[in-house]
Amino acid sequence: MLSRLTSALSPAPRPDGTGLADAIVATTDVLVVVLDPLGRVVQFNPACERLTGLQYAALRGQVLWPFVLDAAERAGVQAAFERLMAGTAPRRHEHHWRTLAGERRLILWSCTVIPDPRGGVAFVVGTGMDVTREREAQQAQAESEARFRALFDRSADGLVLLDPHDPLVPWRIVDCNAAFCHMNGYERHELLGQSIDLLHSHPMMARDGPDLLHWIREEQPARGEGAHLHRNGSVFPIESASSIVTLSGQELILGQDRDITARHRTEERLRRLAEQLAHESQHDPLTGLPNRALLLERLQLELRRSVPEEQTLAVVAVGLDGFRRVNDTLGHAAGDDLLRETARRLRDAACPAHTVARTGGDEFTVIIPAAGDPEGALRAARALHRVVAEPLHLNGQLFPVRASLGVAVCPPDSSLPANLLRQADMAMAQAKRDGGHTTRLFSKALDLAAHGQLHLEVRLRRAVQEGGLHLHYQPQVDAHTGALLGFEALVRWTDTKLGAVPPARLIPVAEDTGLIHELGAWVLNEACRQAAEWRLRVPVAVNVSAAELIREDFTARVRAALARHGLRGTQLKLELTERFAPRDLRRASAHLTQLRALGVQLSLDDFGTGHAPVATLMGLPLNELKLDRALTAAVAGSAAEQRVVGALISLGRSLNLNVVVEGVETQEQLQALRDLGCSAVQGYLTGRPGPPEVWTTLLETLDA
Ligand code: C2E
Ligand code: CA
Ligand code: CA
Repeated sequence: MLSRLTSALSPAPRPDGTGLADAIVATTDVLVVVLDPLGRVVQFNPACERLTGLQYAALRGQVLWPFVLDAAERAGVQAAFERLMAGTAPRRHEHHWRTLAGERRLILWSCTVIPDPRGGVAFVVGTGMDVTREREAQQAQAESEARFRALFDRSADGLVLLDPHDPLVPWRIVDCNAAFCHMNGYERHELLGQSIDLLHSHPMMARDGPDLLHWIREEQPARGEGAHLHRNGSVFPIESASSIVTLSGQELILGQDRDITARHRTEERLRRLAEQLAHESQHDPLTGLPNRALLLERLQLELRRSVPEEQTLAVVAVGLDGFRRVNDTLGHAAGDDLLRETARRLRDAACPAHTVARTGGDEFTVIIPAAGDPEGALRAARALHRVVAEPLHLNGQLFPVRASLGVAVCPPDSSLPANLLRQADMAMAQAKRDGGHTTRLFSKALDLAAHGQLHLEVRLRRAVQEGGLHLHYQPQVDAHTGALLGFEALVRWTDTKLGAVPPARLIPVAEDTGLIHELGAWVLNEACRQAAEWRLRVPVAVNVSAAELIREDFTARVRAALARHGLRGTQLKLELTERFAPRDLRRASAHLTQLRALGVQLSLDDFGTGHAPVATLMGLPLNELKLDRALTAAVAGSAAEQRVVGALISLGRSLNLNVVVEGVETQEQLQALRDLGCSAVQGYLTGRPGPPEVWTTLLETLDA
């Protein structure tokens, strides 16, 4: 044996087979080392030389360990070597060798002790394998599995590992985490080893498993939604992602499940909300009837069908007469009852094919398809009228319901939905003008009347821009002495075609169209010019609309007009109608303050009719209240009215404001007002509005 081992440098085998072992040792990739009992190198084969870079020739007879072992490992290896020789250590041993290049390699050694004839140890033969790579791979694998385990255990999603290849238990649960157990209501040990079918309402894996596996392999991960059967018997929706994982060489399915009950609930709630919103956006909340938007949509559909089929379609506009009075006298609750009841009556009277909609505060619209000729449509509308106008119990009283109806029929009326609705509205307006509580059919003549409005607008614009307006002036006088206190400028317009158009008609048109700014600027300038020409010592009053006052440049415009004609601020008064919403007044209050600083006087017009709260008044820098002429009309007669006017006069006084009463037409009214403490009046009695010429002479006599 020794001779064979030591002759390893000349490894050629001889024909008798001796030397074969040496040849193997010399050529094998297995590391072969032979040491004597002191650890000195007897053999160090070429595989060892290749691994370490050390030469056998240099090592021979030297103690091996300092050459290949790190100091730290040396003592341990040496001790193992001793025990090996004593026969008490395992034959397999693992330690690192350091190569000449400084690399550490892990070697798995298998050692054999060769005894000497005296019963001692002659040699120790070690055969070794470099297992560095494998060990690293194993370690990486172990680490990755540990990481997977940690993620698996801690994931908030339910995770389950399934074995799809178990021949006995289809899709056997190999492992699952706490979240998965919790989600399904089981303890972990109750699930392990069971088929995933435990969580399905019907077993399916035996049948569907192969397809499923195929799908998962293709998708990687395969996502889907499904349901699980909870331990308590309930079924809940889940969302899952399944993928293939290979653990310890075994193909498994990793299922990642999430309970989506909450999401489903939210989605359901959102869906219902969307439906509700869609319904609400198309229906009137009070009566539940379709609103104008939905009516238009339906009308469009109906017309698209009826026009090609040459059928007549009628639109009936239904308006309750005097609804405002019901609200004011019986209260809003009664008003709502009336509207709901009207809705019910119309719906009951109409066929299912009809559409009944609420199109305004006190207005309803009914679409009647296939209405026959206009006469037939009118008859149908009258039938609706009778139903709607049945007396009704409101607040315990039998209340007579009155309604005006307008009918438009296509053909001959418009086949455009919006136009047809407008035509029915016009016919209803005509029914109201004719005294109400009746039904009218639309006619072209009504359309022409509506065109009149447009006409007015066009002509007014021209008048404002090309100088067709003029002013009348009405004096304000001392109630006791008749002395002149001022003039109010009132706009006048006489159109060549339309004749004299009263301010009550033209001012709203001007306000709606924005013409009011140009109109107001012209009035302001003209009134200032006239006051300057008259060298008026009392102020001239100009009416101002809310829209004008809230414009940025209003103060600047007033200042410019005053400057242009050399007037002081105190020579101008602005009358703000009480129609001003409190919101407008607040927005305008900065302007009002600046105007007051210029000395301009501010009067609140038409006081006592509107609903301007006294608190709003007190916040404004006013000089004057002008009591509306509606109050004046009755002041000579009724004691109650007198008390109201008296109270308003003292309110003004207590706020330190001038009070002017307008619309004074009779001596009795004047006397009554004097008695109530009124000091200034305006009206036909003391002077009708008139053109400047009328006043020029009077002013001259006053001056003289
Ligand atoms: P208002 O400011 O209340 O003007 C007083 C209205 O009462 C004037 O009507 C006047 O002619 C009328 N009146 C005067 N004394 C009597 C009387 O004793 N009995 C009766 N029944 N009426 C009397 P008018 O001129 O038709 O003006 C109507 C309204 O148009 C004015 O009401 C005012 O609000 C507005 N308005 C007039 N001119 C202008 C203007 O230049 N600008 C603006 N924004 N509005 C103006
Ligand atoms: Ca006025
Ligand atoms: Ca007035």
